[in-house]
Amino acid sequence: MNFLEERIVKDGIIKEGNVLKVDSFLNHQMDIALFEQIGEEFKRRFSQEKIDKILTIEASGIGIACVVARYFQVPVVFAKKSESVNIDGEMYIAEVESFTHKRKNQVIVSKKFLSSGENILLIDDFLANGCALQGLISIVTEAGANVAGIGIAIEKGFQVGGRMIRNLGYHLESLAIIDEMDAATGKFTFREV
Ligand code: 5GP
Repeated sequence: MNFLEERIVKDGIIKEGNVLKVDSFLNHQMDIALFEQIGEEFKRRFSQEKIDKILTIEASGIGIACVVARYFQVPVVFAKKSESVNIDGEMYIAEVESFTHKRKNQVIVSKKFLSSGENILLIDDFLANGCALQGLISIVTEAGANVAGIGIAIEKGFQVGGRMIRNLGYHLESLAIIDEMDAATGKFTFREV
Protein backbone atom coordinates (compact mmCIF):
# COMPACT_ATOMS: atom_id res chain seq x y z
CA MET A 1 0.00 0.00 0.00
CA ASN A 2 1.20 3.53 -0.73
CA PHE A 3 1.07 6.43 1.77
CA LEU A 4 -2.43 7.55 0.76
CA GLU A 5 -3.93 4.05 0.77
CA GLU A 6 -2.49 3.54 4.26
CA ARG A 7 -4.07 6.78 5.46
CA ILE A 8 -7.45 5.87 3.93
CA VAL A 9 -7.38 2.52 5.76
CA LYS A 10 -6.40 4.24 9.01
CA ASP A 11 -8.75 7.25 8.98
CA GLY A 12 -11.30 6.90 6.15
CA ILE A 13 -14.90 6.16 7.09
CA ILE A 14 -17.14 4.31 4.64
CA LYS A 15 -20.70 5.65 4.54
CA GLU A 16 -23.79 4.12 2.99
CA GLY A 17 -24.34 5.17 -0.63
CA ASN A 18 -20.73 4.70 -1.77
CA VAL A 19 -19.46 7.79 0.03
CA LEU A 20 -16.06 7.80 1.68
CA LYS A 21 -15.50 10.36 4.42
CA VAL A 22 -11.96 11.64 4.68
CA ASP A 23 -12.81 14.67 6.75
CA SER A 24 -10.03 14.22 9.26
CA PHE A 25 -7.17 14.56 6.75
CA LEU A 26 -8.32 15.63 3.28
CA ASN A 27 -11.40 17.78 2.98
CA HIS A 28 -12.32 19.34 6.27
CA GLN A 29 -9.29 19.13 8.54
CA MET A 30 -6.34 19.01 6.15
CA ASP A 31 -3.03 17.23 6.77
CA ILE A 32 -0.58 19.45 4.91
CA ALA A 33 2.33 17.02 5.29
CA LEU A 34 0.17 14.48 3.45
CA PHE A 35 -0.72 17.09 0.81
CA GLU A 36 3.01 17.64 0.31
CA GLN A 37 3.50 13.93 -0.34
CA ILE A 38 0.62 14.14 -2.84
CA GLY A 39 2.27 17.13 -4.54
CA GLU A 40 5.62 15.39 -4.76
CA GLU A 41 4.02 12.26 -6.22
CA PHE A 42 2.08 14.19 -8.89
CA LYS A 43 5.25 16.08 -9.79
CA ARG A 44 6.97 12.71 -10.33
CA ARG A 45 4.07 11.20 -12.31
CA PHE A 46 3.67 14.24 -14.57
CA SER A 47 7.37 14.94 -14.96
CA GLN A 48 7.13 14.46 -18.75
CA GLU A 49 4.34 17.01 -19.14
CA LYS A 50 4.72 20.74 -19.53
CA ILE A 51 2.33 22.36 -17.05
CA ASP A 52 1.48 26.09 -17.14
CA LYS A 53 -1.40 26.20 -14.70
CA ILE A 54 -3.48 24.07 -12.35
CA LEU A 55 -7.27 24.07 -12.53
CA THR A 56 -9.48 22.63 -9.79
CA ILE A 57 -13.03 23.00 -8.54
CA GLU A 58 -14.36 24.59 -5.38
CA ALA A 59 -14.28 23.69 -2.59
CA SER A 60 -12.43 20.55 -1.61
CA GLY A 61 -10.00 20.51 -4.55
CA ILE A 62 -8.52 23.89 -3.66
CA GLY A 63 -6.32 22.91 -0.71
CA ILE A 64 -4.70 20.01 -2.54
CA ALA A 65 -4.28 22.04 -5.74
CA CYS A 66 -2.46 24.81 -3.86
CA VAL A 67 0.08 22.44 -2.35
CA VAL A 68 0.54 20.60 -5.67
CA ALA A 69 1.13 23.98 -7.34
CA ARG A 70 4.17 24.57 -5.11
CA TYR A 71 5.84 21.56 -6.76
CA PHE A 72 5.03 22.74 -10.29
CA GLN A 73 5.58 26.43 -9.45
CA VAL A 74 2.50 27.49 -11.38
CA PRO A 75 -0.69 29.40 -10.45
CA VAL A 76 -3.93 27.72 -9.38
CA VAL A 77 -7.33 28.64 -10.76
CA PHE A 78 -10.48 27.18 -9.26
CA ALA A 79 -13.85 26.86 -10.94
CA LYS A 80 -16.41 28.62 -8.77
CA LYS A 81 -19.84 27.22 -8.11
CA SER A 82 -22.46 29.76 -9.03
CA GLU A 83 -26.22 29.62 -8.74
CA SER A 84 -26.88 32.66 -10.84
CA VAL A 85 -26.72 32.45 -14.60
CA ASN A 86 -23.99 34.68 -15.91
CA ILE A 87 -24.05 35.13 -19.64
CA ASP A 88 -22.10 38.33 -19.99
CA GLY A 89 -19.44 36.60 -22.05
CA GLU A 90 -16.70 37.11 -19.49
CA MET A 91 -16.90 33.61 -18.08
CA TYR A 92 -16.49 30.04 -19.22
CA ILE A 93 -19.46 28.11 -17.84
CA ALA A 94 -20.09 24.38 -17.38
CA GLU A 95 -22.84 22.43 -15.69
CA VAL A 96 -21.72 19.95 -13.05
CA GLU A 97 -23.85 17.51 -11.09
CA SER A 98 -22.53 17.11 -7.56
CA PHE A 99 -22.09 13.46 -6.53
CA THR A 100 -22.26 14.22 -2.80
CA HIS A 101 -25.09 16.77 -2.88
CA LYS A 102 -27.03 15.38 -5.86
CA ARG A 103 -27.70 18.79 -7.35
CA LYS A 104 -26.60 20.60 -10.45
CA ASN A 105 -24.36 23.61 -10.19
CA GLN A 106 -22.97 25.90 -12.78
CA VAL A 107 -19.26 26.30 -12.43
CA ILE A 108 -17.56 29.34 -13.85
CA VAL A 109 -14.03 30.45 -14.64
CA SER A 110 -13.20 33.98 -15.69
CA LYS A 111 -11.87 34.18 -19.24
CA LYS A 112 -9.02 36.30 -17.84
CA PHE A 113 -7.47 33.28 -16.15
CA LEU A 114 -7.42 30.62 -18.89
CA SER A 115 -5.84 31.28 -22.25
CA SER A 116 -5.60 29.51 -25.54
CA GLY A 117 -2.55 27.25 -25.82
CA GLU A 118 -1.94 26.89 -22.07
CA ASN A 119 -1.16 23.44 -20.70
CA ILE A 120 -3.48 22.70 -17.80
CA LEU A 121 -3.16 20.11 -15.04
CA LEU A 122 -6.57 19.29 -13.53
CA ILE A 123 -6.50 18.38 -9.84
CA ASP A 124 -9.33 17.13 -7.62
CA ASP A 125 -9.76 15.23 -4.38
CA PHE A 126 -12.16 12.53 -5.65
CA LEU A 127 -13.17 10.95 -8.91
CA ALA A 128 -16.55 9.21 -8.81
CA ASN A 129 -18.79 9.49 -11.88
CA GLY A 130 -16.58 12.02 -13.58
CA CYS A 131 -19.05 14.93 -13.76
CA ALA A 132 -16.72 17.41 -12.08
CA LEU A 133 -13.88 16.48 -14.45
CA GLN A 134 -16.12 16.62 -17.52
CA GLY A 135 -17.08 20.17 -16.52
CA LEU A 136 -13.45 21.20 -16.08
CA ILE A 137 -12.45 19.54 -19.36
CA SER A 138 -15.20 21.38 -21.24
CA ILE A 139 -14.01 24.72 -19.79
CA VAL A 140 -10.39 24.03 -20.78
CA THR A 141 -11.50 22.99 -24.26
CA GLU A 142 -13.67 26.07 -24.67
CA ALA A 143 -10.67 28.22 -23.72
CA GLY A 144 -8.60 26.56 -26.46
CA ALA A 145 -6.20 25.30 -23.79
CA ASN A 146 -4.86 21.77 -23.46
CA VAL A 147 -5.54 19.19 -20.72
CA ALA A 148 -1.95 18.12 -20.07
CA GLY A 149 -2.88 15.74 -17.27
CA ILE A 150 -5.40 14.92 -14.56
CA GLY A 151 -4.32 14.21 -10.98
CA ILE A 152 -6.82 12.72 -8.54
CA ALA A 153 -6.16 11.84 -4.92
CA ILE A 154 -8.86 9.17 -4.50
CA GLU A 155 -10.61 7.42 -7.38
CA LYS A 156 -13.60 5.24 -6.61
CA GLY A 157 -12.84 2.62 -9.22
CA PHE A 158 -16.26 0.98 -8.90
CA GLN A 159 -17.87 4.12 -10.35
CA VAL A 160 -17.68 4.98 -14.04
CA GLY A 161 -15.59 8.18 -14.04
CA GLY A 162 -12.09 6.69 -14.23
CA ARG A 163 -12.90 4.35 -17.11
CA MET A 164 -14.67 7.10 -19.02
CA ILE A 165 -11.82 9.61 -18.62
CA ARG A 166 -9.16 7.01 -19.57
CA ASN A 167 -11.21 5.94 -22.61
CA LEU A 168 -11.19 9.57 -23.75
CA GLY A 169 -7.39 9.30 -23.85
CA TYR A 170 -6.46 11.63 -21.00
CA HIS A 171 -3.36 11.08 -18.88
CA LEU A 172 -5.14 10.35 -15.60
CA GLU A 173 -3.17 9.54 -12.45
CA SER A 174 -5.07 8.56 -9.31
CA LEU A 175 -2.98 8.03 -6.19
CA ALA A 176 -5.42 5.58 -4.61
CA ILE A 177 -7.98 3.60 -6.61
CA ILE A 178 -10.60 1.91 -4.46
CA ASP A 179 -12.14 -1.06 -6.27
CA GLU A 180 -14.34 -2.09 -3.36
CA MET A 181 -15.34 -0.64 -0.03
CA ASP A 182 -17.78 -2.18 2.37
CA ALA A 183 -19.70 0.01 4.83
CA ALA A 184 -20.61 -3.04 6.95
CA THR A 185 -17.05 -4.33 7.49
CA GLY A 186 -15.09 -1.12 6.88
CA LYS A 187 -12.83 -3.05 4.46
CA PHE A 188 -11.16 -1.53 1.36
CA THR A 189 -9.80 -3.23 -1.75
CA PHE A 190 -7.30 -1.10 -3.69
CA ARG A 191 -6.39 -1.59 -7.35
CA GLU A 192 -2.83 -2.79 -7.92
CA VAL A 193 -1.29 -0.53 -10.55
P1 5GP B 1 -17.81 13.10 -9.71
O1 5GP B 1 -18.11 14.41 -10.33
O2 5GP B 1 -16.60 12.41 -10.27
O3 5GP B 1 -19.02 12.19 -9.68
O4 5GP B 1 -17.50 13.38 -8.19
C1 5GP B 1 -16.35 14.10 -7.84
C2 5GP B 1 -16.64 15.16 -6.84
O5 5GP B 1 -17.59 14.72 -5.86
C3 5GP B 1 -15.39 15.51 -6.09
O6 5GP B 1 -15.09 16.87 -6.40
C4 5GP B 1 -15.70 15.31 -4.63
O7 5GP B 1 -15.70 16.55 -3.98
C5 5GP B 1 -17.06 14.69 -4.57
N1 5GP B 1 -17.06 13.27 -4.15
C6 5GP B 1 -17.40 12.21 -4.93
N2 5GP B 1 -17.38 11.07 -4.23
C7 5GP B 1 -17.03 11.40 -2.98
C8 5GP B 1 -16.84 10.62 -1.77
O8 5GP B 1 -17.00 9.40 -1.70
N3 5GP B 1 -16.45 11.31 -0.68
C9 5GP B 1 -16.26 12.67 -0.68
N4 5GP B 1 -15.86 13.22 0.46
N5 5GP B 1 -16.43 13.43 -1.79
C10 5GP B 1 -16.81 12.80 -2.93
